[in-house]
Amino acid sequence: MSQTETANSTEQDRHQRIQRTNAWAVVVDGLAFVIKLTVGWMIASPALIADAMHSLSDLLADLPIILLARIARQRPDSDHPYGHARFETLGTVMLGALLLTVALGIAIETVELLFSDTRPMPSLLGLATVVIAIALKEGYFQYAIRQARLARSALIEANAWHARSDSLSSVVVLIGLLATLAGFPALEIIAALIVAVMIGWMGIRLAWQAIQQLVDQGVDHDRQDALATTLATIPGVRDVHLLRTRRMGPDLFVDAHLRVDSRISVSEGHQINEWALTTLKQQYDDIADVTLHIDHEPDPDDSQVRPLAPLRPAVERLLAEYDVRDYDRLIIHYHQQRAQLELRFANDQQRQAARQHCLRLLNDIDWIADITLTITGERLSRSTH
Ligand SMILES: [Zn+2]
Ligand SMILES: [Zn+2]
Repeated sequence: MSQTETANSTEQDRHQRIQRTNAWAVVVDGLAFVIKLTVGWMIASPALIADAMHSLSDLLADLPIILLARIARQRPDSDHPYGHARFETLGTVMLGALLLTVALGIAIETVELLFSDTRPMPSLLGLATVVIAIALKEGYFQYAIRQARLARSALIEANAWHARSDSLSSVVVLIGLLATLAGFPALEIIAALIVAVMIGWMGIRLAWQAIQQLVDQGVDHDRQDALATTLATIPGVRDVHLLRTRRMGPDLFVDAHLRVDSRISVSEGHQINEWALTTLKQQYDDIADVTLHIDHEPDPDDSQVRPLAPLRPAVERLLAEYDVRDYDRLIIHYHQQRAQLELRFANDQQRQAARQHCLRLLNDIDWIADITLTITGERLSRSTH
């Protein structure tokens, strides 16, 4: 199986896992809605019917999650070259905001509770329904948080915490019912406030992490050091600098500059680049893409930037102007915006003939640092005898 096929199949697994987890959310919320509404209607409890409406709103909240997860799995296209994973991040921000609203709602209800003195006596059936609701939501939380970690999905994690916030609110209701039975109604207020703070904190944490990702926060320094160290182990890499990272949902994008020997060939530089890419992707399975820039000298300070040294056509024109001819090959190296030339000749006669012309050229042109005159060597290949 090739590398891309493996990547595709794990992608496939991930999306199936996310879809399955979202499907279970719909089942759990639907079930909670039906049970609460039925029992609420049977025992004529406005509190339970109101709670059923909350489950209905949970069910409705599942829909944008499913939609965003579907959009997020789409392949990169020309409008979204980095893929669509950030739609997942957007959903996480929305869920964080939802949790904050839930926390606020509980807090407001608690304050209202302080000013009301009539408490309905709870029925056994009502009590049982609340226990079932807690079991459903807590069960879903335990399942979904595991799936979220396996799929590395912040969206599923946020949805899991949403389920936990529901189970915690039901715990408050349960405590309220039991406290009324036991004659300590103040207990409900304390429990409600604790739960409101917990849920609010969850919402802030989820939204904050997702917002960091939306504004392109890089990975932490330990992780950056690890990436740079891996790149530095590639033979031929002399220095790693300007390493940058950004997260897209579960994926990591990395770019960096690598400095190599200034005299190696372009193809060797490219080969080092290929090895660096492959090594990074093999070592870390969350890396989606790596962009590397090969340097042959340290990046110049702004103060020492010189005008760009001309390219090959200008060099060739100059050589012709100075009567340097009959060379087989011209190799140009650049160092701090000055050109170093190597001229290869077929024989020593031609080389000697060019010598004086080259000296004259060196005297006149200051962006040419030096010229090396050599004789073309013998190339051996498998077919040479
Ligand atoms: Zn390439
Ligand atoms: Zn650089």
